[in-house]
Amino acid sequence: MGRKKSPVDPPVCSLCEAPAVMNQQYSRRSLCSTHFINDVEERVFQVIEKKKMIRAGDRIAVALSGGKDSTALLLLLALHLPKWQDVSLIAVTVDEGIHGYRDETIRAAERVAENVGVEHSVVSFQDLFSDNLDTLLKGREEQACTVCGILRKKALIEGAKKVRATKIATGHNLNDEAQSVLMNVLRGDLPRLVRNSGIDTADSFLPRIKPLAEIPEKEVASYLFVKGMFLLLPECPYRGFALRADVRSMLSGLEHRNPGTMLRLMESRKKIEKYLEWEKVSGPLHRCRQCGDPCSGDLCQVCRLLLSLAR
Ligand SMILES: [Zn+2]
Ligand SMILES: [Zn+2]
Repeated sequence: MGRKKSPVDPPVCSLCEAPAVMNQQYSRRSLCSTHFINDVEERVFQVIEKKKMIRAGDRIAVALSGGKDSTALLLLLALHLPKWQDVSLIAVTVDEGIHGYRDETIRAAERVAENVGVEHSVVSFQDLFSDNLDTLLKGREEQACTVCGILRKKALIEGAKKVRATKIATGHNLNDEAQSVLMNVLRGDLPRLVRNSGIDTADSFLPRIKPLAEIPEKEVASYLFVKGMFLLLPECPYRGFALRADVRSMLSGLEHRNPGTMLRLMESRKKIEKYLEWEKVSGPLHRCRQCGDPCSGDLCQVCRLLLSLAR
């Protein structure tokens, strides 16, 4: 006989009445550990299938920083790997050379790759740009995330080319994606706003896929936790400098008070994209005169940045 539910009762799963570990406010469901794990794994697989992110013959370079998002990404891709024909994974870690932060995360990345039986490759700023991030940033720490973001993207592309990958997978979650949408709106950067979709080929010949783009950050972290993986890693020391930090806290407040805000923001972006004529927004594509990468002007973002840092 069921007794009346009191407000002090612990929440139970909406699907099986076992104790709930996740309250998914945007779906109005509570989920137990089994149903929560299934839900995340199923949704990630569906996104990959729906957007045709992975095709037969692909060799996917998984950007593995060693943090929670990329760790979850590698775990999930390795789990689903048998479902795809002739597809292989290789983990690629970028070593920016951030003192007191990167060494530990590289070791974490190595362990994760070894645990799931995936090959691992490290590519460093030092090798690619002949300097580490700490040296490049001396005296301009406030630009850290911008500089690092641009160079890391380039390093990842080079690292992926080196291991003959056909695609790059990154661990961007729903929060990251929603933050980017809002930041691009705040900056008035329409080309970047619509370019940020599931498969992005705009700045290299290597398509980038983001299989976690519909999973909230909280659920990515809980997924690892429920799976018994505790990641206690240092946070990037440059993290607080960016506009992203403001947008992050604003959005998480909004999501808390109005569940579903982040998903609706992504919907808005999709609608804008649908009505845009891409050529009018982006302008014609050129080649960088320094490195030959596709870009919108005379020099690509990376070459322009390296030139300004050298000054
Ligand atoms: Zn359940
Ligand atoms: Zn260039």
